[in-house]
Amino acid sequence: MVYDVIVSGLGPAGCALLKGLEGSGLKVLALEKEEFPRRKPCAGGLTLKAYKEIKLLFPEVDRVIRVASKELELYYFNKEVSISFPSHFVYLTDRAELDNFLFNSVLSLDFKVHTGEALLGAEYEGDLIKVSSTKDSYKCRVLISAEGVNSKLSSLFKVKRELGFTYEADLECSWNEKVLIDFSKFKWGYYWLFPKGDFITVGVGEFKDRELFKRLKGLLNELNRKHGLKGKVISERGYPIPAGRRENDVYRERVLFLGDAGGLVDPLTGEGIYYAVKSGLIAGNFIKEAFNKGDFSLLSGYKKEVNEEFGKEFYWARMVGRLFFPLRGINFRLLEKSKELSLLAGKLLSGEISYKRGFFEYAKRAPRALIGI
Ligand SMILES: Cc1cc2nc3c(=O)[nH]c(=O)nc-3n(C[C@H](O)[C@H](O)[C@H](O)COP(=O)(O)OP(=O)(O)OC[C@H]3O[C@@H](n4cnc5c(N)ncnc54)[C@H](O)[C@@H]3O)c2cc1C
Repeated sequence: MVYDVIVSGLGPAGCALLKGLEGSGLKVLALEKEEFPRRKPCAGGLTLKAYKEIKLLFPEVDRVIRVASKELELYYFNKEVSISFPSHFVYLTDRAELDNFLFNSVLSLDFKVHTGEALLGAEYEGDLIKVSSTKDSYKCRVLISAEGVNSKLSSLFKVKRELGFTYEADLECSWNEKVLIDFSKFKWGYYWLFPKGDFITVGVGEFKDRELFKRLKGLLNELNRKHGLKGKVISERGYPIPAGRRENDVYRERVLFLGDAGGLVDPLTGEGIYYAVKSGLIAGNFIKEAFNKGDFSLLSGYKKEVNEEFGKEFYWARMVGRLFFPLRGINFRLLEKSKELSLLAGKLLSGEISYKRGFFEYAKRAPRALIGI
């Protein structure tokens, strides 16, 4: 049997794609190497924009929201800025629970799903693509890589991605509902504490300083001590993370790369769930159109749209980073002094406003705030 579409990986990107293909009548096979629930190193934070997008697709998502927060504390060495939002700015999940929920939500769709089966390779055979897995081999017309940052297909097709590195731990620890971010000691990265109810997720991530990649575990312990955190470690792990660019390498002939497999992660905050879900939906629309019109060349439009929608945002995220990271001392003084600027920073982090708008609004207001210092 020849499948219309084979999807490899059922994280947020793969699940969103299946949801997007619901009712299309296409013959779809999804391969997922793990059994659910499975762990994926991730802080599990959904920004407001990600939460809204997921809720539209999966209205029951509130079942796996552990904490919704209105409070943010930002640190840079001994400087501290607290931001209180009028409404929730971030929704915290346990990724094992979120992904299990997404997976179970797509199981009822009319597609074949094989768990515990990993894709191993793929090659073109005329108009078809032959896929081999740990259990069998299959043929399809369109192949989707939604395999995350360690994607087999991304290596096979030499997809160009920029990678940073993280080290993360879940700790048994009682905490309030505040989200804490500390920018001390990084070149282009941060420490985070995300509350999850009966535990917390703490982690450090760095995109630029490769020397720091090797010292992330020690840095996590150091920053945990700084913030007075003790508690039994439930799990801990280092993991790569992509950094999205203006032009993202997400397409080969009839092969589409979604989410982390295509490098679609905010290069400033490391937010990737939103881009995984959105890329799944965008890919779904192009696939349906290509099959309806019998024209697979239309699939290349996926890359164009991804770069139009996300590439520009990633470009401006990097511009904001260039304005923020080298001048953290001054920026923290501005944030301490100006409620207007700290709220603007919060809106940027929650995805409420675009980086481009945030960049210009910050640049416009900062000199006035600076004079007031
Ligand atoms: C430490 C850390 C913290 C993060 N925190 C956040 C955060 O708070 N908020 C946020 O938005 N983003 C965060 N991110 C980014 C986010 O985790 C990813 O961007 C997101 O998981 C991408 O989703 P995805 O569906 O593309 O890939 P994944 O979630 O990685 O899913 C890929 C799936 O493919 C499967 N798979 C892999 N290889 C194969 C194969 N060969 N065959 C079959 N199946 C395969 C995997 O088992 C997995 O189920 C964080 C990342 C890290 C590393």
